Amino acid sequence: MVIKKSDLFIQKSYVASSWIDGEQTIAVENPSTEEIIGYVPSLSMDKVIEAIAAAEVAQRHFVQSTRKKRAEILQKWYDLLIKRKEDIAQIITLEQGKAIREARGEVDYAAGYLLWYSKQAMLNHDYTLPANDLFSARNVYYVPIGITAAITPWNFPLAMITRKAGAAIAAGCTMIIKPSEYTPFSCLALLKLGIDAGLPQDVIQVVTGPAKEIGEVLLSSYQIRKISFTGSTKIGKYLISNSSDSVKKLSLELGGNAPLIITEDADLDTAIKMIINGKFRNNGQSCTAVNRVLVHKNIKRKLTEKIVENIKPIKAGDGFNEDNYLGSLINSAALTRLANLVDKAVKAGAKLLVGGEKLYDKGYFYAPTVLDNVNNQMEIARQEIFGPVLTLFEFSNLEEAIAIANDTEYGLAAYICCQNARDSRYIAEHLQFGMVMINETRFSEAQVPFGGIKNSGFGREGGKEGIFEYLETKYIAKM
Ligand code: ADP
Repeated sequence: MVIKKSDLFIQKSYVASSWIDGEQTIAVENPSTEEIIGYVPSLSMDKVIEAIAAAEVAQRHFVQSTRKKRAEILQKWYDLLIKRKEDIAQIITLEQGKAIREARGEVDYAAGYLLWYSKQAMLNHDYTLPANDLFSARNVYYVPIGITAAITPWNFPLAMITRKAGAAIAAGCTMIIKPSEYTPFSCLALLKLGIDAGLPQDVIQVVTGPAKEIGEVLLSSYQIRKISFTGSTKIGKYLISNSSDSVKKLSLELGGNAPLIITEDADLDTAIKMIINGKFRNNGQSCTAVNRVLVHKNIKRKLTEKIVENIKPIKAGDGFNEDNYLGSLINSAALTRLANLVDKAVKAGAKLLVGGEKLYDKGYFYAPTVLDNVNNQMEIARQEIFGPVLTLFEFSNLEEAIAIANDTEYGLAAYICCQNARDSRYIAEHLQFGMVMINETRFSEAQVPFGGIKNSGFGREGGKEGIFEYLETKYIAKM
């Protein structure tokens, strides 16, 4: 594999201005072939502590940097990322298993955050209050929160980092990144480009190693003022519980359980498009993936036929083969979990219309699958599916659809396919989700304040809101 010889394929951590090895290593697998593609250090905790100390020094300098300087770094970082798009896309596919077409899309998506935050860096949010009887001057400032940390997942190994790191840099904060142990190489390549783009010394560092131990060091550090996490609700709750001692600010982008409501008057071609894009993007391994498709009973039969017709030909296979629409799942545990969810659903009364099987001897491939007669009592409807499995529900009226859709502990993304403007607005207003898309599933770009409610977490990434996650309000009044 040529990409492994690239200057961007780095098997090290980056701590205190150096690319470092560890006494122990973590093997990283290509999920499509089950071959080891490389190793990264499994750092000992003294290295993580060293990273925090280096970040302290860096933070003192970085806080003095001008908006213009930070904007320039982000712009340059964006330029380099776009320039090396193909190489980075190959690293993503190699370690994550997604189709190369989607990996290229992720590079654009990830780079978009750097560009967005280069513009956001230039904005001054400070303001002045009118003088009053007590004070002649009263100012409100937004100051960098300080050293931050990012703990990131494997499903979008590049974009989930730029949306955090871009905001941190724009705000004037240093960041220590702990990427997923399954996908560290995209992150390390990204850092290399950041250094080439002029990131000052130790403004960004990357630590690889045992998640729990690194998490403990980050959580217990008073110097780290904020952790931005994207991952499971279970770990998100753990971070909430364990950040109380150091009273750390958190932003948490956790799981989702997105409904797609298809009303009686829906345009069926739009519905199919929404299903294909909304469900199968990233092989279903996305927290905004359509998890439950709720269809009006009067169009259910016709739409189901169309769904089956469209999903049957979808090809899964090695992500490097441009013909494959879907890649591999991330690992063996993910494949087993998905297969169990489907088996349990079928035992509980769901009807298997397409798929329902693992594919090939090697790799973690699962066939695109459609399950009918699903209801909210089934485990598959209560959890994030995180795979290419579509579940079909039926409803008789809008109130019932809204009730089924909201009957989940999650509240990230929801989708509506409906031609009637009043109905779609009514549904959108009553859905308890942070993001609702009508007749469209592509929505996630840097301008959007991405985030959820309920067990999907709190805080927003991107949009006008994103930078405030890294700023603190400071009020200064003068007599
Ligand atoms: P998933 O199940 O999708 O892998 P996780 O929430 O387990 O999601 O992982 C998301 C990120 O959280 C990864 O970088 C992972 O290494 C990290 N992580 C897992 N467990 C912990 C923990 N106890 N403390 C801190 N980070 C953790």
